[in-house]
Amino acid sequence: MSESFDVIVVGAGPAGSSCARRAAELGLCVTVLEKATFPRFKPCGGGLTERSLRLLNGEQAPVEHLRFDTAEIAFDRYLSLLVGGPETLLATTTRAEFDTLLLRAAEAAGAGVEFGRAVTDLTRDGEGVQVRVGSDSMTARHVVVADGARGAGRRMLGLSPLRMGGGIYVRAFPDSDGLPELSSGRVLFDPTAAKRGYGWVFPKGDHLNIGVFSQCELHAKLKRDLDAFVALQGLGAWRSEGPFAFPIPVGRPADALGTERVLFAGDAAGLVNPVTGEGISSAIMSGRLAAEAVSESLDTSRAVSASYARRIEAVVVPMTDGSRKKGDFVYGLGPGFLKFVARTPVMKAVIAPAWRAAMRDNGGFSLTVAGGSEASGPSRTPRRV
Ligand SMILES: Cc1cc2nc3c(=O)[nH]c(=O)nc-3n(C[C@H](O)[C@H](O)[C@H](O)COP(=O)(O)OP(=O)(O)OC[C@H]3O[C@@H](n4cnc5c(N)ncnc54)[C@H](O)[C@@H]3O)c2cc1C
Repeated sequence: MSESFDVIVVGAGPAGSSCARRAAELGLCVTVLEKATFPRFKPCGGGLTERSLRLLNGEQAPVEHLRFDTAEIAFDRYLSLLVGGPETLLATTTRAEFDTLLLRAAEAAGAGVEFGRAVTDLTRDGEGVQVRVGSDSMTARHVVVADGARGAGRRMLGLSPLRMGGGIYVRAFPDSDGLPELSSGRVLFDPTAAKRGYGWVFPKGDHLNIGVFSQCELHAKLKRDLDAFVALQGLGAWRSEGPFAFPIPVGRPADALGTERVLFAGDAAGLVNPVTGEGISSAIMSGRLAAEAVSESLDTSRAVSASYARRIEAVVVPMTDGSRKKGDFVYGLGPGFLKFVARTPVMKAVIAPAWRAAMRDNGGFSLTVAGGSEASGPSRTPRRV
């Protein structure tokens, strides 16, 4: 039997759920096909940046673990800056909880959801698209592919592959004495922890999510960087789960956003900040914009791909690429050089401000160095967060 929809969404991550919800709100007949069953695990830091929080407008509250208005930017063990802002800098969650919350909101708005449905082929079919799930087929006027960094949607349509970096992390659990420390801690970033990337420590309700991101493809060296970073934080003896590794898109080819009737959103479109690896906010935003472009095209017969591309250029690209130049400057120096200059005034005067500025662009967040909070010198002791 062949069913027909205004729009079929492939994948129920933040991009797919946000697209389905917006499409349902706009009165479209929409269903989401998701290959997993929920709640499902997605390797991620689970950090909701200030921009994500603004888009969510408080809806994440039921699954939010901790909130931070201060970040520590640590350059190896030699220089550590505290940066804070007027608003929350980052909140943490787990993706199993967060993605389930977003999907339930899409369902509540009227979107259909089918679990255990891995899309296997997409083909142009007259004025629509035929979507195959094994031996079943469905048709839709438009399809939004939000199948993530490992999705096969691009290959199904013969589109260019995305350039991939990657992230790898562990979940580290303290003994019971350590729990209070987590809730009063801060998030930490270390741009010397990996080549063309950084290390992070994100406290959650009962554990730390501690990992490294690199613009370079996932490789064995990143695991060694992770081990060294965990040891530097003094967490080597904690019980840990993982490591969990997953690709992160860090570049977009010209055909990133799809074809005439098949739009790509979120990671599947390469819409990730290439300096920070942050992708939840652009997944949410691109999913919503894809639904709006489809709705407009059904009402006016305007070409959906051009209208989607215009929206992405205006709203999402500044979010993802805003900090690229400053990040490239710091990454171009390399972790070895950063560690070398970490003890010198050059770090304080030039490099640390460039990293802070890249963070500010990332979040549209007004960062200030907290008064009297700069600690420098070779004596910084690695400590629990
Ligand atoms: C280690 C790591 C840490 C990260 N940390 C952060 C962070 O702290 N903050 C942040 O903002 N971003 C972070 N990111 C990036 C973030 O995880 C992604 O940008 C985000 O998940 C993109 O959402 P999405 O909806 O595009 O794709 P995904 O969340 O990957 O969802 C894709 C969905 O599609 C489904 N799917 C795949 N193929 C098919 C198919 N054929 N048929 C049907 N369904 C299919 C999958 O099962 C999945 O549910 C991190 C990434 C990594 C790897």
